Amino acid sequence: MHRDKIAVCPGSFDPITNGHIDIVHRALCVFDKVIIAVGHNPLKTDLFTTQEKLDMIRQSIDSDERIVVDAFEGLLVDYIKKTGACAILRGLRVISDFELEMQLALMNRKLYAPAETFFLMTDYKHLFVSSTIVKATAAAGGSVEGLVPRPVLMKLKEKFPHMKIDPV
Ligand code: ADP
Repeated sequence: MHRDKIAVCPGSFDPITNGHIDIVHRALCVFDKVIIAVGHNPLKTDLFTTQEKLDMIRQSIDSDERIVVDAFEGLLVDYIKKTGACAILRGLRVISDFELEMQLALMNRKLYAPAETFFLMTDYKHLFVSSTIVKATAAAGGSVEGLVPRPVLMKLKEKFPHMKIDPV
């Protein structure tokens, strides 16, 4: 009997960027379903509420029944068990991502060994893109066009009205 292979792509998504979306699409050639799971990273201060993040993600992804958008609280592995997922999906940009990602992957394995962490390499176009640099640039009035989906661009403009948007 075929059991859907589900991957959970957890993150702060504050906000979602084209880099995140790239990773989710890449994963769909291996997994039957990818759940974009919005969590709160206690090490980070969020600009957007969970509801705002969910709305932006839903508006930004093409309608595809293989992609599900959700939020979770508490331990990621508890959420993994609840969803029946077999994999945790994380993106890698530069080598400096690796150290923290390895710690997270090993801690998650200690907490719940059946969930395997999969790393996918981002596209070179998104190598330098992070939610943090997007927020910092937008807050200082710079254009982040091309780095985030249009609905995110509009939401950033709401928060930072002086942010530049290139003419279409
Ligand atoms: P967290 O706070 O859990 O790191 P993020 O939303 O910052 O949440 O990132 C979630 C995942 O997406 C992480 O694995 C991160 O490495 C990955 N990621 C972030 N930006 C990119 C990008 N530009 N390309 C590929 N993966 C990315």
